[in-house]
Amino acid sequence: MTDFDLIIIGGGPAGLTAGLYAARASMKAILLEQKDLGGEILNTELIEDYPGFASITGADLSQKMAEHALKFGLKVETYKPVKEIRSDGDRKIVQLEDGTELRAYAVIVTVGGEPTKLGVPGEQEYHGRGVSYCAVCDGAFFKGADLAVIGGGDSAFQEGLFLTRFAKKLYLVHRRDDFRAQAILKDRLLGMEKVTPVTPAVVTEIGGNGDVKWIDLDHDGRRERINVEGVFVFIGFRPVGRHLFKDHIDHDKNGYLITDQYMRTSIPGVYAAGDTRAQLAKQITTAVGDATTAVLHAERYIEELKDMERDFPTASREVVAESAGRADLLAFQPGDVILREGDPADRFYMIINGQALATARGPDGAEAHLNTLGPGDYFGEIGLLNNAPRIATVRAKTSLEVMALDRETFERLITSSQATEAEVRRVAKDREAERLG
Ligand code: NAP
Repeated sequence: MTDFDLIIIGGGPAGLTAGLYAARASMKAILLEQKDLGGEILNTELIEDYPGFASITGADLSQKMAEHALKFGLKVETYKPVKEIRSDGDRKIVQLEDGTELRAYAVIVTVGGEPTKLGVPGEQEYHGRGVSYCAVCDGAFFKGADLAVIGGGDSAFQEGLFLTRFAKKLYLVHRRDDFRAQAILKDRLLGMEKVTPVTPAVVTEIGGNGDVKWIDLDHDGRRERINVEGVFVFIGFRPVGRHLFKDHIDHDKNGYLITDQYMRTSIPGVYAAGDTRAQLAKQITTAVGDATTAVLHAERYIEELKDMERDFPTASREVVAESAGRADLLAFQPGDVILREGDPADRFYMIINGQALATARGPDGAEAHLNTLGPGDYFGEIGLLNNAPRIATVRAKTSLEVMALDRETFERLITSSQATEAEVRRVAKDREAERLG
């Protein structure tokens, strides 16, 4: 089994962005893609809403994104479909279709989805023989033919525009009279002479004689047949991320993975970005933004996990992953007070970087130095264990980065094994004795 810090699944804009940041941060990371790098944008002819590129083909943009990530040393494996992702303690195991298993502290899922099917007779039978879900891939096979595009969203219009290069006549079949596509796309496509909107119309069957020759419609209550040689279906998208998980992962009713603001899913250490995530818009801009957030948070999570593994070697690994997933990362300047003697105890702290000073007031009221704490040390456990106010003050001696756990997470962590609880109680007892002595 090969070990990584981070595994990125999917090589579209989200995956390549996460990969770029991971490579630049020198993380031990790998990106797995089941086909070629580029993802969904490979199926898009022209992209005109990605800032910095007034007009660029999907193929060119994906190539630029891939080259950029590879330039910074990202390790990439293409044609490596993932079969399953499962948790093993505080690690994630990614199993490939070929049986290979990879292990990592964190996984970012950017696998997008697949086109929604009409589900009418003839659709499956004629797939590849006139029925297509990708104009860029198949449009050129239909030079001079009459074609139908099904759908009323951005994809139908964008792909429809591309198909007007080849089509003699293009029918735009949509179930409502209103189209949800962007105004600019609507103006362009509907303004073309060879384009005929057919609304409100529902496809009931696709037929032919070995290749597609017609589609049957329910056109505003009337049965109608249109003769076409190609049917391009763009009626939405089915996210596929959740099907990779053996364990439950939270998703919405349409199957999109639910994340928080840091792109964390309900499984600690698993992040989602791009079109497989529940969100307002499926755009390249949002995919790259989400992926940036995901990878920056994953980097922190991995550091926290490694620190916790070191601090609590006997704790349950599942609980360690859960605790790292819930920890807050806090930064302090020299002199800042992190906790104050006499205050109620609500959190537990672990030092990631920098030094802290613990002091306590003596009987004369003067503050006395108790301890200097550094990376790997923890503090704040006494008040939580005794359910009592703080018995010392802890200040940042240098710039300080700490990981903070709330009471509930701390209790779950230390009670996850007898040895961990005994060790934390022993440290607390020694410190109390020192304080009293
Ligand atoms: P979409 O926006 O969900 O549109 C799907 C279209 O198919 C809708 O018009 C819908 O009709 C219709 N539809 C859904 N189910 C149907 C069914 N069973 N039978 C017939 N028609 C059906 O999907 P999309 O166009 O694939 O776009 C997906 C996302 O990618 C969107 O967020 C879109 O903005 C984005 N995108 C952006 C660009 C761009 O240039 N910026 C290009 C492509 C895609 P109703 O309208 O009646 O629901």
